[in-house]
Formats: sequence, C-alpha cells, structure tokens
Amino acid sequence: MKKIQELEKIARQLEPDMETRHHISRDTNTYINNFVDSLPVSPGYTTGNINRLKSMKVGEEGKPFEQLLDILGNEVDAVGINSASGRHMGYIPGGGLWTSAVADMLAAAVNRYAGIAYSSPGAVEIGNQMIRWLASVVGYPEAAHGNLTSGGSVANLIAIKAVRDHYGINASNVERSVIYFTEQVHHCIHKALHMTGLYEAVLRSVPVDENYRMDVKILRKQIEEDRHMGLNPLLVVATAGTTDTGAIDPLDKIADICEKYQMWFHIDAAYGGFFVLAEGAENRFKGMERSDSVVMDPHKTLFIPYGSGVVLVRDRNTLLASNSHKAAYMKDAYGLDEIDPADCGPELSRHFRGLRMWLPLHLHGLAPFKAALEEKLMLCRYFYEKARDSGFETGKAPDLSVAVFRIPDDPDNSRNKKFIRALHEDGRVFLSSTTIREKLWIRCAVVSFRTHLQEIDLALEMIKENRDKVLSEGGRSSVRIAGEN
Ligand SMILES: *Cc1c(COP(=O)(O)O)cnc(C)c1O
Repeated sequence: MKKIQELEKIARQLEPDMETRHHISRDTNTYINNFVDSLPVSPGYTTGNINRLKSMKVGEEGKPFEQLLDILGNEVDAVGINSASGRHMGYIPGGGLWTSAVADMLAAAVNRYAGIAYSSPGAVEIGNQMIRWLASVVGYPEAAHGNLTSGGSVANLIAIKAVRDHYGINASNVERSVIYFTEQVHHCIHKALHMTGLYEAVLRSVPVDENYRMDVKILRKQIEEDRHMGLNPLLVVATAGTTDTGAIDPLDKIADICEKYQMWFHIDAAYGGFFVLAEGAENRFKGMERSDSVVMDPHKTLFIPYGSGVVLVRDRNTLLASNSHKAAYMKDAYGLDEIDPADCGPELSRHFRGLRMWLPLHLHGLAPFKAALEEKLMLCRYFYEKARDSGFETGKAPDLSVAVFRIPDDPDNSRNKKFIRALHEDGRVFLSSTTIREKLWIRCAVVSFRTHLQEIDLALEMIKENRDKVLSEGGRSSVRIAGEN
C-alpha cells in the first residue's frame, strides 16, 4: 500500500492543477497570438541552428514550461520553411487555420475515441459527416464513403489497396495486371504500389501533352495493345492538380476509357480537389464525379493544419471489404448502423480528426473558404502574367494555382540554379524548383489562406531583384574569367 501511495503521488504530476493549467494556457495563448500576428512580416524561409534542441535529453525531472516554449520559439518555429506563413509558396504549401488548432486542443483534452461509433457516437458522427460532405463536394452518390487520414499519402495507399482487393490481385495474377499513370504522378503512388505488392504489376508511364496532362489517345492505344497481349488493364491513376505544375489530367475522357474497359479510375486530387469549390472552376473537374476513388488533402487546400487527408470511395462496400476485420474482443461494438472509421482504413485508435475540419467549417461557414480558393486561382494568374511581362520565361498558363517560370536563355540551367539559391538565401518568400524535360523551373504555388495580393507583390519584387543580381554577377564573373584567360 505504501508503495502504491508513493507512486500515486509522483504519477499525479501528470495532471497539473487548475492554477498551473491556467498559466500554461495563458503563456501558450500569448505565444500563439504573437506568432500569428508576426506572420505577415516574418520571412518565408530562415536558416539557423537547432543545437540546444539537439542536446536535450528526456530526464527523470520535469523542466519549466517557459524553457520548453523558448526552445520551440527559437529552434523549431523560427528555423526552416515557415509553413504557416502566406509567404510559403514552395512545394505545395499547407494551411494552419487557428480555429483548427482550437479544435485540436479540444479534441486532445477530451480525447474522445473516434475509431468506433459505439465508443463515441458523436465523434464518429462528426468524422462521418465530414466524409459525407466531402463526397458531395466531389459529386459522389450516397453509397460512397471514405476515411479521414493523416494525409494524401496514406489516403492514396488505402485507395490502391482497395483496388487490389476489389480485383483479387495476388501473386498468381499480379504480373499480368497493368496500371497506368503519367510521369507527373506523385511519388506516394509509387510508395503505395510498393506497399501493396502492386509494384510487381506492369506499370505504364503514359506520356503527357504540352500542358503536362495525360495524353488519353496514347492511354487508349496502350490499353488496347495490352489487352491484345493478354494482359489485364486494371487501374488508371489520374492527377487533378499535379504537384509540379497544377495540371489536371482529362478526367472525363479517362472516365470514358475506364468505363469502356471496366477499369478502376482513381484520382489523386490531394492538392487540387478543393478548387472544385471555387466559383467558375467546377468545369475543370468534370469527370471527377465518375471516378471510383479520389484523394484530397484538407491540410492543403482546405487550410487545415498538417495531419488531414481524405480518401473517398464510390462504393463503400469496396472500402469496407478491404479494411474490415472483426476481432473477437470487440464484439460489444457491433450491430450499430453507423460506419466505423476503424473499418475504413488501417488505423484502429485514431486522432479525432473530424473536429479540426468540422469546427472551422461550421464556425466560419463555407463562403470564406470558397472566396479564398477563388482568390488563390486569381492570384496565381496575376503572378503568372506579371512574371511573363517582366521578362521571365513562363510555362503554360496555370490550370490551378501553380505557375512555373525561369530566367530565359539558359540551356544548361546554370543561371536558374544560381537563381533558386539566391531566392533561398533571400528567404522573404519561399519558392521551390523542379525539372521538367531537362529544364529547371522555379515554381510559385499559391495555396496558403494567408497568401494575398501583398505577398504576391512581394514575391514578384523578390524574383526580379534576384534575377537582376544573378544576371549582373553572371556577367561580371564571366568577364573576369575571360580577362584571366
Ligand atoms: C501533397 C500531395 C500528395 C501527398 O500528400 P501528403 O499529404 O503529403 O501525404 C499526393 N499527391 C499529390 C498530388 C500531392 O500534391
């Protein structure tokens, strides 16, 4: 008894008293408010060391909260890409809605178990309501269902596994199965194929047209040829908003093809999907509603913090068949109408993810989300035109909110390599680069809900200044080298 009581005394330190909780939440609030308020003037990218953090050890005794918050402030939140910032326009930026953070605090503090309806009908209802809403955004029928995941990679994995299980692909037939995508497919699809054993299938990289979209004529021809060879065309993975350029594959035409050959049509719309909500952009996604499965990332274009993806499957039975394993010790939980999230993916215990989407959507209403999405499309178009008019070489007009540009007349990419380095050293706005058909391009991805006209004008100013710097340095150094020779 004595030992139990001793242990209890120490263990109770895990529940801070009311006064301590009050201090910690007050300091946290101050910290977050300062962080959010400074975002408009903070750089998009900063270098710095994280030495104090690296030398930290987990010890027997606790450390003061102020000390831990100080390390977060100086060595975590101030070093690297500021991904909560509207000045992050590299890769695919994320969101970070403050109201979602509030929801996370609530979800974690009450710790409802959101895996099984029996345990928390409300938490499961919130998640399932979000899934039903997302399915309606895509244009899916009521028989559709899905799963809220940690992100697009896991969402794609769940979809790919559902395809494999639906067609009964196994060691005996995998080598005859054929999967089609383009070189612009996100690498998480390759990972998903690996993890599901489908990398053993025949993988066809379908060429893209001059707009970086899947060439459907070649797709059709390839499927015909594969059928003639006795192979089994199984799956087309289209992308609605490629990571590199924001290109949307011809969804409606791909839907025709998949229908004709009875193939599975999967769309990776992790980045692009939510633009279907932007006024005037719906028609770009025509055919999405005909797909068999689709992936979207609320932590990108719904502006939710990291840790939010979604997979939707047209026929919920396919999803359930691929994920449902009834364990004996869980028999109390059966027999309810609601679909259990645990039956729709690999996770059993899970974060109460629905709340971080449900709270902001209900609190703000849809209108500001739609406006922000339409604004992103227009800002990207504005950036693209201004960059072109300022003498940059530009790629095709953006399908969505990614524009690519480069310093022209640079066949070996050397100037653009210097250019991207200079942009990273500058850091006011963070941009990233990509290589398409051996040309190095700089990308401007307008995704954050905190990116407005002011941030785009800053980006334009920054790229012009750094271009001029690179060109004048390039000129000087080549003159000097010529002189030395
Ligand atoms: C971001 C992205 C992914 C990967 O999603 P994560 O949420 O980073 O796992 C997949 N596909 C596309 C098109 C993406 O833009």
